[in-house]
Amino acid sequence: MSGPLTGRPLVAGDIALYGVGIDANSTHLAGPALGPEAIRDQLHSGSANYYTEDGVDIAAVVVDVGSIAVGNEAGSESDADLVTNHVVETLRSGGRPLGMGGDHSITYPILRALRSLHADLTIVHVDAHPDLYDNFGDNRLSHASPFARIMEDGLCDRLIQVGIRTATAHQREQAQRFGVETVEARDFQEFDARSILGPIYVSIDLDGLDPAFAPGVSHLEPGGLTTRQVIDLIAGVGGPIVGADVVELNPLTDVGGVTAMVAAKLVKELAGRMSAGQTS
Ligand code: MN
Ligand code: MN
Repeated sequence: MSGPLTGRPLVAGDIALYGVGIDANSTHLAGPALGPEAIRDQLHSGSANYYTEDGVDIAAVVVDVGSIAVGNEAGSESDADLVTNHVVETLRSGGRPLGMGGDHSITYPILRALRSLHADLTIVHVDAHPDLYDNFGDNRLSHASPFARIMEDGLCDRLIQVGIRTATAHQREQAQRFGVETVEARDFQEFDARSILGPIYVSIDLDGLDPAFAPGVSHLEPGGLTTRQVIDLIAGVGGPIVGADVVELNPLTDVGGVTAMVAAKLVKELAGRMSAGQTS
């Protein structure tokens, strides 16, 4: 692997871009395991450049440390441990983790590592789905459950879910039980991202966007956010972004690489925002 984002060691303050090719914890379709490579293809596409909308050259702040060698088996605790340990190592080097999925199961093991660094942590989670199932298919690591595991383990102080439009009665109960703050897609206009302060972890499930903008996902759910709204959310949060992931790209259902390019754009904007205004 070589290119503008590789070939130098990670140093403190760098954004550590990494891939996790897991889709065995998906409940409907395979494909997200191919996500990291599809995002890399678009990041390095000759059709675009490495600058964010704020004018940050991400080639100066991002190191692509590669993809984690997971086994990709359903419910694999050893895969989850590989993800946790990878992020622990990144944090030890002073790097800031920016993950490319893979399905949404990766966020729980990421947070197990990140929480140790932040006594005060808010998660902003963009998704059509709350991913709060107590048990889905007898797989505690299912991509339908990462935020149930995160809340059970106390891995954040606030969980703000944005773009939700599929909550079942069970998931509404779970949200209430854990004190989750929900911004449903239909209420997004009233949402003020600037009021979110303190260290923030951003987790973006691409199905939080409308399928018109991001058709390459496993669970198409109409009525979602625009690409512009998600970029503005990244730019607009009041606190520093200390880590992030972009998950659930399914290259097998994508149309002309458009969703992969949306993912690459979000990765760039997250990297730029993570490199600016660092406070810890
Ligand atoms: Mn989703
Ligand atoms: Mn999700």
